[in-house]
Amino acid sequence: MLIDAHAHLNLYGEDLDQALLEIEDLSIFTVTNSMDPDSYGKNLEIAGRSDLVLATFGVHPWNAPLYVDRLEELNDPALTSPALGEIGLDRRFVEDESQYPAQEAVFEFLLAAARDRNQLVTLHTSGAEETVLGLLDLYGIERAIVHWYSGPVETFRELVERGTYFTFGPEVAVSEHIRALAREVPVGLLLTETDNPGGPKWLTGEPGRPHLIRDVVGALAEIRETSPGEIERTVEENFRRLVLGDPRLANACTAFTIGDDRADS
Ligand SMILES: [Zn+2]
Repeated sequence: MLIDAHAHLNLYGEDLDQALLEIEDLSIFTVTNSMDPDSYGKNLEIAGRSDLVLATFGVHPWNAPLYVDRLEELNDPALTSPALGEIGLDRRFVEDESQYPAQEAVFEFLLAAARDRNQLVTLHTSGAEETVLGLLDLYGIERAIVHWYSGPVETFRELVERGTYFTFGPEVAVSEHIRALAREVPVGLLLTETDNPGGPKWLTGEPGRPHLIRDVVGALAEIRETSPGEIERTVEENFRRLVLGDPRLANACTAFTIGDDRADS
């Protein structure tokens, strides 16, 4: 089974039906991350349509200023979500420094929630990699996925050392820096993502379609000098470990727990 551990299916709009068909046809287990409570509601609806889709709640750092004075509204979705994502900090795409305190307040609120319930977190770290690492340590977060990492190699190595998983996405085909990280990441921490539909659009101008995950797997196979099938098996095994080691996630991911042929294919 292919694994797209980081997408935003709620952003597909009228192309959603087509995207879900593709996900079913190609058997791509997809984690649809949220950027605020509204998108989580939409993602839950989408996840209700396919056992290959898992919805997670998060507040993206870009939206933090909207929620910093309404943190209590985040309690319910954070409590019910099987994992938290997308959460984190952004000091690269957000240049307005006046937003950074709000980003940190919202991120720390959600890290505290994750710590209290031992939830897996999916992290956005752009330009704030070291600060995010420090906060993971401060809050004692043990299980984390860093999405689309493109920061310094030293911080990457520290994150590897603490057992952080990494989702590599479409930029692995074009960025020498990311290719070097994809070569170095330990086999047991490797995951794949598309960040569909917006991430690929940022790269190529075209919204990403689910089948893009096959290109990511192909690029990783070339970089790591192995076969696409081997990458697919490795990533599925890694993701399965994360899911099955977490009762809340195992409950939400029936594709991995109920006698489903796709789970073994
Ligand atoms: Zn994202």
